[in-house]
Amino acid sequence: MDYKTPTSIDDAIQLLVNATGPVQLLAGGTDLLVQIRAGFNKPTLVVDLKNIPELRKMSINGNGTRIGAAVSGAELNENSDIKAAWPGVVEATDLIGSTQIQGRASLGGNLCNASPAADTVPALVAAGSSCLIAGPEGERTVPVEEVPTGPGQTSLKKGEFVVEFQLPKKLARSSDAYLRFIPRTEMDIAVVGAGVSLTLDESGICQSARIALGAVAPTVVVVESGAEALIGSKLDDDALGKLKAAASAACKPIDDKRGTVEFRVDVAGVLATRAALIAKHRAEVN
Ligand SMILES: Cc1cc2nc3c(=O)[nH]c(=O)nc-3n(C[C@H](O)[C@H](O)[C@H](O)COP(=O)(O)OP(=O)(O)OC[C@H]3O[C@@H](n4cnc5c(N)ncnc54)[C@H](O)[C@@H]3O)c2cc1C
Repeated sequence: MDYKTPTSIDDAIQLLVNATGPVQLLAGGTDLLVQIRAGFNKPTLVVDLKNIPELRKMSINGNGTRIGAAVSGAELNENSDIKAAWPGVVEATDLIGSTQIQGRASLGGNLCNASPAADTVPALVAAGSSCLIAGPEGERTVPVEEVPTGPGQTSLKKGEFVVEFQLPKKLARSSDAYLRFIPRTEMDIAVVGAGVSLTLDESGICQSARIALGAVAPTVVVVESGAEALIGSKLDDDALGKLKAAASAACKPIDDKRGTVEFRVDVAGVLATRAALIAKHRAEVN
């Protein structure tokens, strides 16, 4: 197996385009190395993206927030400005693995590993994030929810990779939240994950909302009817009841050792409403 460490986007693209055998990108390696050791993944070339400066940058200003695809969870968690602006995205990242995993794991790897249970994906989707993708035909920007197409599958074409995540401009009285259910207290994979972002007006009425669920379908689920239930309300019991029903109805989960279909459907509604209330309380003090 060959291992390359390009230092520019163009060099990485060339390596990927010219590869003749199976190729894998590497950011933190916390998914990839496990797969290689288990024999599920047998690349003949590994292209390490961590030495490309554009993938390691973070910034937040009046235009929005940018998080490099290879920034580690630990690095993101130390950025107090991004943490204050997008607490839901940062808390989702912070749930990944242990301290050791946090020092390596990236948002780009979490998205492109394409696990239905990836924790950051519902949070990023609820936040309205996009990905900047580089490839042999230039750059393109796509909503995060369009990248995973099924378990272990993405819409990225040969030679393409994610450079950065772009989060929208942070509005006044807006915030986000992410909650997941796991059978243990930590170091487990989500049975259900729920991300919510919303914006309130001066009287506390919800002006906009986005709801996204993880681990309840092959790919992340955007619950538009749940957002509609919140918009125009103060997140009273009636609106939350409609959100709960919409979130549960949007699920198409599987039965597995972590949870049954019935359990996942029920928990999705519960977590969506709890995350919405947390986002609301955060927005009220923003
Ligand atoms: C002990 C342990 C606990 C874990 N706990 C959790 C958890 O609680 N929640 C959770 O969601 N995950 C968890 N994970 C999984 C893993 O840590 C995360 O998915 C992590 O975010 C992967 O990031 P990475 O940088 O290590 O990815 P890598 O392993 O480097 O890459 C993963 C995949 O993404 C591709 N890739 C990486 N970067 C890019 C890019 N920029 N563009 C295109 N493709 C790219 C790679 O080719 C590879 O296929 C855990 C893993 C371990 C080992």
